[in-house]
Amino acid sequence: MSHTLRTLICFGALAVVAIYATAQDSPTASADQVWADLAAGNKRFVLGKTASHDIQAQRKALAKTQHPRAAVLSCSDSRVPPELVFDEGLGDLFVVRSAGEDDDPLALGSLEYAVEHLGSTVIVVMGHQSCGAVTAACAGGKSESENLDAVLAPIVAECAKKDPKTSENIDLTIHYHIHHVAQNLLAKSKLLKEAVDEGKLTVIEAYYSLDTGEVTKLR
Ligand SMILES: [Zn+2]
Repeated sequence: MSHTLRTLICFGALAVVAIYATAQDSPTASADQVWADLAAGNKRFVLGKTASHDIQAQRKALAKTQHPRAAVLSCSDSRVPPELVFDEGLGDLFVVRSAGEDDDPLALGSLEYAVEHLGSTVIVVMGHQSCGAVTAACAGGKSESENLDAVLAPIVAECAKKDPKTSENIDLTIHYHIHHVAQNLLAKSKLLKEAVDEGKLTVIEAYYSLDTGEVTKLR
């Protein structure tokens, strides 16, 4: 069986389960409440006082369903795992990651799935300090492979907005890139745009500091 076919079957099964789950779930929390919960979790993470998650109980409760309130599109950087930096447990976040948090079709489709089938009402686009993908894109030159080029290509245009010679300017470029990706979600996905227009979805732009562990809401 091809990987694509397996993926489609997997998503199909999840969609059936998701419809069942949505019918049973409690009223949807507002975007402000979802963000307040994420910010509170990040505060616990920063202070080193994370909640004790009963992973075993959560795993059992979630075996047949999931209803993550928020989806996160973020960088693959090993130092920025969304579940940890927001101190969330199993089933809380639908996470889409790639180096440089790209808005490619796979990422868009995954986010559409979270919103349309799992009931996620918030998408957090999260970039981070000293992002290697942004730094490499702004350094120019040729990558070692076409695949690496594909990671850097969507970021290069952001580099041109500021002379990226200092770390301060790299940081500005990271901020530009977060905003650009968030805008692209709505420009490239009719489904996400309609969900925002209908008040069912809020897109939040956020920045993670490697120095402090804090996630700052930008927009
Ligand atoms: Zn990164």
